[in-house]
Amino acid sequence: MSVLDAIYDKVVARDPNQPEFHQAVKEVLESLEPVIEAHPEYISIIERVVEPERLIHFRVPWVDDAGVIQVNRGYRIQFNGAIGPYKGGLRFHPSVNASILKFLAFEQIFKNSLTGLPMGGGKGGSDFNPKGKSDGEVMRFCQSFMMELWRHIGHNCDVPAGDIGVGGREIGYMFGMYRRLQNEFQGGVLTGKGRSYGGSRIRPEATGYGLVYFAREMLATKGKSFEGATVSISGSGNVAQFACQKVLYLGGIPVTMSDSSGWIHDPAGITHEKLDYIMDLKNNRRGRLSEYADHFDGVEYTVAEPEPSVSGLWNINVDVALPCATQNELDGEEAKMLVANKVIAVAEGANMPCTPEAVEAFQKGGVLFAPGKASNAGGVATSGLEMSQNSLRMSWTRKEVDEKLEAIMISIHKNAYRTAKKYGREGDYVFGANVAGFLKIAEAMQAQGVV
Ligand code: NDP
Repeated sequence: MSVLDAIYDKVVARDPNQPEFHQAVKEVLESLEPVIEAHPEYISIIERVVEPERLIHFRVPWVDDAGVIQVNRGYRIQFNGAIGPYKGGLRFHPSVNASILKFLAFEQIFKNSLTGLPMGGGKGGSDFNPKGKSDGEVMRFCQSFMMELWRHIGHNCDVPAGDIGVGGREIGYMFGMYRRLQNEFQGGVLTGKGRSYGGSRIRPEATGYGLVYFAREMLATKGKSFEGATVSISGSGNVAQFACQKVLYLGGIPVTMSDSSGWIHDPAGITHEKLDYIMDLKNNRRGRLSEYADHFDGVEYTVAEPEPSVSGLWNINVDVALPCATQNELDGEEAKMLVANKVIAVAEGANMPCTPEAVEAFQKGGVLFAPGKASNAGGVATSGLEMSQNSLRMSWTRKEVDEKLEAIMISIHKNAYRTAKKYGREGDYVFGANVAGFLKIAEAMQAQGVV
């Protein structure tokens, strides 16, 4: 048994009920074999890097509109702070548990390292479901959540942001409560803030835009571009919306989107006007995507059953696929359909949306495949830019932030591509991203002694 297998087995034995975390660890460890051959001293780093520095678990009591007391679970995982303050989003979704947050926080370590910015890895959230809740209920929940979280975070310590179920509204409620409890305006304690109180331009767009910049770079290695390319996108939240917008700007034709109830196929293409409709539907009216199919002609709508299945969405014949909803939403069979339909590139907008079988099918099928820790890093990178602006007490223009984001995505692509090539694995972005992300963390941990 190899050393890495032994480390993996220990991770599983310690927390046998955390399959998503095991999946994320396995994927990284599988890339590290050639690294420990060159650096056997990194074995002890790997043993430590799979264990979170701190895991905070707390009760979140709140009162609903009917006056009934509800109780949810809150978490913050501070996984690795070797290269900077812990940084990673908060997710509010009924599926949230320690396994999902540990996988997300673990991925975040390497993603943040790849951005080149000084940010450690963390993640948090709650099993609270914001869907169907009134604004007042969401506010009371956020305030109670922060009532505990505030003592664990700070602009030099841990800087949360949004994720599934946590957008500008939730960040605003949490920031307000943090400010009261701390009695300090710490602009840099949360990112994804509103523009009026320290938010960065382009932060809402950043993950989706960054994803498409990364996919553009991948396509360019094969002499291809988004111009005239058909694109299937899953999800219709923050990442999906802005990925769709950037695809349109680059001349591509997005033809699908989804939510947890179902998915739409619009063969004529989702235009800017139609995307405006989706943004209003999702961000303001908080409605279901089925309304899109009722509103526009020629659109097919398919009900998802069971969640999170979007089966069929990946059987549409497209040039590029961008899964932007949630983990494990695209399985091996669906990947084979995309390969059979001659998809050129698949880039993960969500975190780990493709199962290991799907990733294998893409790689065997010669499809360009980008793992989320590289291709969706634009969100956290722009959060890093928001922190810089907060520290400088300055606000950069839209153009300045977008240019910096684009440069970061180009550099992540180059770093992952070159690292893979250096080890004889040209075109393997999973390998390149894991190794490039890990090496920086390993060097920092090595320099800091036994941490
Ligand atoms: P949002 O909450 O804005 O949107 C999530 C979208 O995915 C919605 O359309 C939602 O549908 C759908 N979805 C969520 N859970 C499921 C499920 N179980 N089954 C089917 N559909 C589902 O989240 P984001 O767009 O911010 O995040 C999407 C993904 O991107 C996540 O994996 C997140 O971790 C990742 N990510 C986000 C970043 C960011 O900056 N926001 C940064 C990097 C990664 P419905 O509306 O029905 O819930």
